[in-house]
Amino acid sequence: MIEDEPRIRAFLARGLAAEGLHVDESADGRSGLARAFEEDYDLVILDLLLPELDGLSVLRALHNSRPGLPVLVLSARSDLPTKLRGFELGASDYLAKPFSFDELLARVRVQLKRGTPPKNGGTVIRAGTLVLDLTTRRAHLGGTVIDLTTREFQVLRQLAEHPDEVISRERLLSEVWGYHFEPGSNVVEVCIRRLRQKLGPDAPIQTVRHAGYRVSAT
Ligand code: CA
Repeated sequence: MIEDEPRIRAFLARGLAAEGLHVDESADGRSGLARAFEEDYDLVILDLLLPELDGLSVLRALHNSRPGLPVLVLSARSDLPTKLRGFELGASDYLAKPFSFDELLARVRVQLKRGTPPKNGGTVIRAGTLVLDLTTRRAHLGGTVIDLTTREFQVLRQLAEHPDEVISRERLLSEVWGYHFEPGSNVVEVCIRRLRQKLGPDAPIQTVRHAGYRVSAT
């Protein structure tokens, strides 16, 4: 738990310990981040307004190095842009202060159930060199972590779930866009182009002429 407010920190740590959870505490962003790397934690509870290193920076650093580690963000900054930024940077959940302990506990339990780090294989899809993290909705390719929009992630997921299989444009349209597209629309082509740009020169997406797209299994 990375929280600079001593009373909140003590209150939460006591409450969580009473529920049988082991909690380590840090009072600033820098030491909290360092500590998160030292041990194999199941969850990070992170305040946003922190001394030394702000919570969003901690979040970014955690998700670049530990993409499968769930982070529950606690913050008084309940405004929508901050919240969206938090999710964009990989927050698993967001709780605005003030909150009740019961609500925090319920969310902690959800995250502990859900949060299987990628190394355990439960929440990632692998296709060759491409790894999709279902928890953070990010792609990992050749040591780079790539942020994707929801649609981009869904398209890549469709392809990666069926490696070496040619997936038609129509199938992608119906699986990803459902009914929210115009017939003859080029949204799939545009999305594939963006994916290739984001994934870079090693993008494993192949175009199969007049048939569709495929991601290589090797
Ligand atoms: Ca704070």
